This record gives sequence, structure tokens and C-alpha cells, in this order.
Amino acid sequence: MGEYPRYVTPGFKPFDPVELARRTEEIVTRYRGGRCERKYTDFYATGVYGGIATGYTAGCCLRCVFCWVGWSRDFPEKFGEFYSPERAFEKLSMAAHKAGVHKLRISGAEPTLGKDHLLALLELVEGSEFDMFILETNGILFGVDRDYVKELSEFKKPHVRVSLKAGTPEAFTRKTGAKPESFDLPFNAIQNLLDYGVSFHVASMSADPRIMTPDERAALIERLASINRRLALALEEEVIDPYDTTLTRLKLAGLELEWPLKRVY
Ligand code: SF4
Repeated sequence: MGEYPRYVTPGFKPFDPVELARRTEEIVTRYRGGRCERKYTDFYATGVYGGIATGYTAGCCLRCVFCWVGWSRDFPEKFGEFYSPERAFEKLSMAAHKAGVHKLRISGAEPTLGKDHLLALLELVEGSEFDMFILETNGILFGVDRDYVKELSEFKKPHVRVSLKAGTPEAFTRKTGAKPESFDLPFNAIQNLLDYGVSFHVASMSADPRIMTPDERAALIERLASINRRLALALEEEVIDPYDTTLTRLKLAGLELEWPLKRVY
């Protein structure tokens, strides 16, 4: 793959996101005493999902131009600390107790990197007092590794939120930096989650006409409906928020957007 990709810039060379996932795992995971430790940048509760304690992971296998995540996405070697599954669970529990919430989540960058860490953490959550565990993912690894989804399906508490980035292979490359062939992977993830009966829903950055044309949005919804019409009807559509990190990444990609957003689909 050559140099480790940081962000999308004009004339960038598209990368294989599965290979980037493996390279990033070498940076953000390590084994100590037989346990897979994962890098996190923080743990605290937020108001989304009606109140949820969240662990923010470092490192991702996509390079979305609209990404809001901190610079640990681009420079995972510089940010975050390693946590064992037990220590991560302890930090999540403490954040939940402090805020009086009953749900847990991993977000920030890509939480499915470090399969052994995530599955061990889910085991701890499964036997705990907490009601639900939200897992927010770009769907790359769940699309390429059907066994991962099978193992996930053995837990009752996870609910997955798969975030689709684009409606066509070309747009997927333009917006994420990943090769157009990998466009199918998040849709494969959706099929795998359906096949194994995992609780999940789908989100996409499709309510924002500055980043997705009506034709691309229609293509995305049509592709999703071809897998399952109910999922398409329940699609959670988002717009870009002007975080500093987002604005810098858009600028690096050579994209000038008009702010504030004047209309949504
Ligand atoms: S938006 Fe999500 S999938 Fe895209 S680069 Fe950021 S963390 Fe990764």
C-alpha cells in the first residue's frame, strides 16, 4: 500500500480499506497477557440515544472527507492509550454510573478494528447490568468477515448502526478514499447482519445535498431496498456538521461547501 493514508487530497491514490484496517490494527491493538488491548482516546457519557456512556476508539479504515472524529483517525500512532477489555468495560461502567445511564457504546473512528478486543468486551457487557450496547461501524469488516458477524450474533445486547457513505462506487472512492471495489462491503455487512439476526439499523450521509446528489441518494436507497425494503424506509439520514476536523478535512480534499446548510432532502 505504501505510505499510510491520512486523509483524502486532490489526486490521492485510492486504498484497499481491508488492508488499511489490518495496518491500523497493528497500530491500535496489542496483546498483553493473552488479552487484546485497544487504543481509546476517551470515555464519557453523552446525550445521544437518550443518554449513553461512550468509549472513543482511535483508528479507522476509511478516510471520509466529512469525518468529525479527532485526529486519532489520521494519526492513530500519536493518540490514545491501550485498554484491556476489562479496563475498557470498567471505564464505560464508571462513565455510565456517573451520568446515571444504562446504555453503553463504542464510537469514534472504527470500533470493529481489533476483533478479539471487541468480542471480549461484549462478553463483559453481556453479563452486566447494562441494557444495550450500541456499536457504530462503517461496515467494512462486517462485510468482509461473515464469521465476525456470526460471533457478534451470539450476544443479545449489541445493536449495530451501519453508516453508509455513498450511493455509487465512484462517489464512495471520492468521499472515503477507498477503492471503488470496496463500495459493496458495507452492503455485504447489512446482508450478513440480516442473515445472522443481529439487531441493527442503517444510517447515511444522504440528507445533505452539498455532499450527495439526488441521483446518488436515489441509488443508495434503491440498493438498500434491494436488500430489504424495511431498512430503506427506516434509513437514518444525516447532514454534515461543521466540526473543526470536518472543515479541515473538506479543505484538504479541495471541497468548498456553503455554510450554513440551506436545505435538506
Ligand atoms: S466518518 Fe466514520 S468511517 Fe468515515 S473516516 Fe470517520 S470514523 Fe471512519
